[in-house]
Order: sequence, then structure tokens, then C-alpha cells
Amino acid sequence: MNYKNITIAGSGVLGSQIAFQTAYKGFTVSVYDINQQAIDTAKERLHQLKLNYMRDLKASEQEVNRALERISFFVELSEAVNQADLLIEVIPEQVAIKMNFYTKLSKVASEKTVFATNSSTLLPSMFAEVTGRPEKFLALHFANQIWLNNTAEIMRHSKTDQGIFEEVVEFTKAIGMISLPIYKEQPGYILNSLLVPLLNAALTLNVKEIADYQTIDKAWMVGTGADYGPFAILDIVGIRTVHNIVLSRGEAGDEKSAYLAQWLKTQYLEKGKEGKETGEGFYKY
Ligand code: NAD
Repeated sequence: MNYKNITIAGSGVLGSQIAFQTAYKGFTVSVYDINQQAIDTAKERLHQLKLNYMRDLKASEQEVNRALERISFFVELSEAVNQADLLIEVIPEQVAIKMNFYTKLSKVASEKTVFATNSSTLLPSMFAEVTGRPEKFLALHFANQIWLNNTAEIMRHSKTDQGIFEEVVEFTKAIGMISLPIYKEQPGYILNSLLVPLLNAALTLNVKEIADYQTIDKAWMVGTGADYGPFAILDIVGIRTVHNIVLSRGEAGDEKSAYLAQWLKTQYLEKGKEGKETGEGFYKY
């Protein structure tokens, strides 16, 4: 493995998870965020992650403490990226914020540093030019709760160098991920390209009163041997998140989505049924 020093830019929900997992697997990690308050929050998140690794992976206290010792914190981008072989960008999902970040980053990062975006919905080609190194830039998408849901979708854009792509695939294996290489740009990567149509179809069957949600889940689970049906998955994703996605499609002019958003709002959100995290969604927990 060529990489030793990894910089994580953005230390929120996903950034702190990626930082901890990478350090846990022995890499030296630099965490960058915009101010000291964000860094303090990240430190609290990392402390919680230590406990999660001990509980879920039976990691020893010594192992998780060693992971934490490999992480340094920075509010100055040039210092954070100084030694980086790979920088993983995990900042908010807004085009302007990411554009601005890559413009600054391209000026301070060394020529060797590879950049990867963890963006869920924005394609790497949107930022390739502004990085100043399109051939050393690609998408590297992790799932929430990385230590349990350990997939890494590595997606190139048309100008990503093949050797760099392969190096990043190797890196994901080195940090304990199941690597999922994607050879062409695809909105939603692999998982959401499969999952979103399934969830949409399930909601449509239910809203049209073709079958109730328990029956739809049963059909999927018994028919395919899956552990969860689409409505159980919707409860895990969270109905508020689902509502936001459907609502934005409705606002873009799709009438069926507008109706579905309204239905989710009145039948679920306004009744406090937001999914598994709140104790009730389609199902009770
Ligand atoms: P978050 O809001 O929890 O964290 C974002 C972090 O970025 C914050 O710590 C914030 O202070 C920091 N930040 C803001 N502006 C910055 C800047 N200019 N430079 C550096 N840091 C900056 O967000 P998140 O949920 O961790 O999502 C981050 C990215 O990861 C998004 O692109 C999102 O699509 C992607 N992602 C999120 C999930 C998820 O389940 N949350 C899953 C996969 C991918």
C-alpha cells in the first residue's frame, strides 16, 4: 500500500467515522474542519466511536486508544494536507461549499496528493477541473455506520487515472472495507441505483392501496430471501429523510412525488412517526 498519511476534510457524522476507521486500521490521520468548535464536536464523536467499536467489534481499550493517538486535528487546511497521500472530502452536500473548498485545496495541497469525495449525490466530474488534478480525483463513498456497514463505492469519472483508481481500491481494502469499484459515473452509485427504485415502487403500491405495507414487505422477503422488506428499510433510513427527497422531486414538477410527500407528511411525520430512531414509523420498535 503506497498510502500512509490520510487527511479527512470535514469531521461531521461521516468524516469522524472515516477518520476513526482509517486510524483503527493503522494509518496516520489528519482531521481538518473549519473551526475549533467543529473540532471539539468531532472529538466527542470519536469518543463515542471508541465505545461503539468496543461494543460492536469487541475491540480492546488499547486498540481504540491507539487509533485515537494516530489522529491529529487542524483548522488550517495547508497544515492538515501537508503530508497527505490521500485527502477524503466529507464536507456538506452543497455544490458552492465543495467548489470553494476544492479551489482553496488545489492551491495548498502537494502535487502527489490524491483527492476523493464522499458525496452521496454530486458527481465527481462536477468538481474535477476545479481540483486542478482531474486525473488524481474520484469519488469514494462510504455508508453510515462504517464499522458495521463496511462498503466503499469507488467511482471514477472520465479523466481519473486508472492507476490512481486501483490504488484507492487497494486503500479501501486496507481499511477493512468491502470494495465496490464503479467504472463509469452513475448517480446513486450501485446501492442507491438499486434501492431507490425498489423503495419508490413499494411506496407507490401502498399509496395506490394495491396492498398494505406488511403484505408488500412479506412478498419481498419471502420471494427473495431478504431479511428486510422495503418498508422496514424506509423506517431505518428515516421517514423525514425520505420525505425530503420525495418533496424535492415534487418541487421539481413531478406530481406523483408531490402527492407522496404530502401523504408521508400527514400520515407519518405529523403523527411523530419518523421511523426506527423515534420508536415508530411504518412499524413499532
Ligand atoms: P455533517 O454535516 O455531519 O458534517 C459536515 C462537516 O463538514 C461538519 O463538521 C462541518 O463543520 C464541516 N465543514 C463545513 N464546511 C466545511 C469546509 N468548507 N471545509 C471543511 N469542513 C467543512 O455531514 P455528513 O453527514 O458527514 O456528510 C458529509 C458528506 O458525506 C456529504 O457529501 C454527504 O453527502 C456524504 N455522506 C453522508 C452520509 C450520511 O449518512 N450522513 C453517508 C454517505 C455520504
